[in-house]
Amino acid sequence: MTDLLRIRRVRRSFEKMMADLEKFLLDELTCPSCYNYMCPPINQCQKGHNVCNECFPRVNICPKCRAPKSNTSRNYALEAIHGRLLIPCKYQYLGCDYICLGETIKNHQKYCKFTKQECPFSSYDNCQWKDSIIKLKTHLLKKHSHNFYQKDKQKFISQHFRNISNYHYIFAVIYVFDNYFRLTWDINEGTGMTRWAVYFMGSPEDAKKYSYKLEFTKGYQITYNTVPLTFKSVCDPKSDKGSSKFGDHNCFYIHKTLLDKYCIENGDLHYRVSIYALQEEEEYTSDIALLFVEGSKNFP
Ligand SMILES: [Zn+2]
Ligand SMILES: [Zn+2]
Ligand SMILES: [Zn+2]
Ligand SMILES: [Zn+2]
Repeated sequence: MTDLLRIRRVRRSFEKMMADLEKFLLDELTCPSCYNYMCPPINQCQKGHNVCNECFPRVNICPKCRAPKSNTSRNYALEAIHGRLLIPCKYQYLGCDYICLGETIKNHQKYCKFTKQECPFSSYDNCQWKDSIIKLKTHLLKKHSHNFYQKDKQKFISQHFRNISNYHYIFAVIYVFDNYFRLTWDINEGTGMTRWAVYFMGSPEDAKKYSYKLEFTKGYQITYNTVPLTFKSVCDPKSDKGSSKFGDHNCFYIHKTLLDKYCIENGDLHYRVSIYALQEEEEYTSDIALLFVEGSKNFP
């Protein structure tokens, strides 16, 4: 046998050994209760069997040896191995083919498109829908079509804006660039302040790829005496429930009396929302969508 053949054979057996070891470690990382790969913290029973952190609070006895849960500890060695191992996403069985080092898989799984999420209108419309984001568009078209938009440049009309006197809250979802964004604004009747924001529904890393612009114009025509009032910002991530509508200060505060000046004669406020992917040209299309104030929620 030549040296080259011998080297190849050694390399092949080494590669097989590594593959076997990886499979063995992944088996060790499989939770005996839910069969997902465990992420730190990994808990142990009295005898040292491992249980994932989601199942652990739910079980009273060890799924493997049925020993009671008392005197439990963490398996720090297995946690360290998990961090350095390539772990497939736990939604692999649903079709996700993402695989990465254990230390970052948790972050992916949190925003994985196969994970079940609540409807973004769960608080606003009291919607009970919960499913993967892949099915969200169909749901929004079916149940929330009045507050669902699919253009990156969108014109809105807030009817009778000037006459709004009580607490007011508007919420819409915009689906562009294969991602979901939340447009939210409200008025505080006590202070007269309005808050406006467009949030990105997804991971903080992906949120960095998008920015938005809010423009208030007197009607649709920009004339010599009506300079648009413009606000620009990055889209902050906010995928959690609608209960906390605004992230901490990540929104624009504008006093209503200023916006009243932009209302047209009948009191309607026209505004445009543009969402930009990085380095995209700013250009408007002429699509018009109406955001009816009458359809919004009024809170006491
Ligand atoms: Zn489990
Ligand atoms: Zn056990
Ligand atoms: Zn995934
Ligand atoms: Zn819904």
